[in-house]
Amino acid sequence: MKVVKFGGSSLASGKQIEKVFQIVIAEAERKVVVVSAPGKRFSEDHKVTDLLIECGELSLLNLDPKEKFDAVIERYSSIAEELALGDEIIHEIQNDLIERLNGNKSKPDRFMDRLKASGEDNNAKLVATYFRKRGVDASYIDPKEAGLLVSDEPGNAQVLTESYNRLFSLHERPGILIFPGFFGYSREGEVFTFSRSGSDITGSILANALKADLYENFTDVDAVYSVNPNIVTKPKEIKELTYREMRELSYAGFTVLHDEALVPAFRAGIPVHIKNTNNPAAPGTRIVSDRKYTNGPVIGIASDQGFCSIYVSKYLMNREVGFGRKLLGILEDFGLSYEHTPSGIDDVSVILRESQMDPIMEREIKGRIMTELHADEVKIEHSLALIMVVGEGMRHNVGTMARASKALAKAHVNIEMINQGSSEVSMMFGVKQVDEKRAVAALYEEFFVAVTV
Ligand code: ASP
Repeated sequence: MKVVKFGGSSLASGKQIEKVFQIVIAEAERKVVVVSAPGKRFSEDHKVTDLLIECGELSLLNLDPKEKFDAVIERYSSIAEELALGDEIIHEIQNDLIERLNGNKSKPDRFMDRLKASGEDNNAKLVATYFRKRGVDASYIDPKEAGLLVSDEPGNAQVLTESYNRLFSLHERPGILIFPGFFGYSREGEVFTFSRSGSDITGSILANALKADLYENFTDVDAVYSVNPNIVTKPKEIKELTYREMRELSYAGFTVLHDEALVPAFRAGIPVHIKNTNNPAAPGTRIVSDRKYTNGPVIGIASDQGFCSIYVSKYLMNREVGFGRKLLGILEDFGLSYEHTPSGIDDVSVILRESQMDPIMEREIKGRIMTELHADEVKIEHSLALIMVVGEGMRHNVGTMARASKALAKAHVNIEMINQGSSEVSMMFGVKQVDEKRAVAALYEEFFVAVTV
């Protein structure tokens, strides 16, 4: 059997839901269907999740959320109208949303999670209603009753391992199961959502729990591209890549799949197939454990902005036992997570997402590093972009780093930092944000356009 997940743009209108229906019924193995909330119909449109967030925020400020509430209901109503579903489902959705808005606000982030989760929960009910109307045996599955248990971290929940055994019993249910993505329940029975775009994670969890043969993830592009199509026009499509390659790429800006969504499928060895709802005949991209390294060392180039580096130098740092631990300990005290730590004998940089810090925190961190670690110098540099050059083939090829740095030099991009992951699946270049696009285009040219060895 297959677990099939559809993203927001695949469910944004009645017309899209009809496509989803056709895709699901085309293969009897497509038994579990994970749905997102309705997404954008056109580029200036609003995602239902964003409307729900705005609605919740107004309500927390004791302001009237009516306009946003109406906008959410209007999205479901227009879908229901297009699909001739009748009013009953819309009343159900309306009442559900009113109940959530009138719920306990003493813990605002939990209140927000309950509202956000309603986007997928109500959409799953609506989709199940439509499938039944088309004469198919389909039912909405309540994640609470099915046993999808998650940690109690608002907006950032993690699946609890006991979920997997519980969810296995979904096999006993007949017909097509429509499962809402993006959230689960804590052991205490409260709703918690994954981070944004987390319906991909739900699909992967279900694929693992149900021991599916395949996890199909339907989105709105024909394939995963080797580079951001907003930077390079018509980039090469990737036919097949490994879990590790996809994890590296999605971490650094490939938004096709949530970067945490691969782990459950990977652990169970279930291949993931990215496909296009609007063009299901296209071959798509397969994510697998092993692939043949036929097309040079690099499979994709990703980049992401919004990083900063904390540079610390101290003479004889290499001789000082515990320096790294103490440095990272200071960051831990501020609740900061870090991404990379390139280092030399007397210096180290810690790369972080800069949205985690504010100027006051920065000053305190600098002060503590100077006084507690007796550093010679501490510098915080902002507005960095990280570029990841990814490919398992790098392990078997000589000179990839040389080619990359030469290409960057030719494009007059100053490399602020270099880090090669120990797994040799990726190379990271830190550059100034203003140089990001030029750098990515130069690397693409080198590895995909120029003649490869
Ligand atoms: N609807 C949620 C979001 O917009 C989750 C998802 O679409 O996967 O983030």
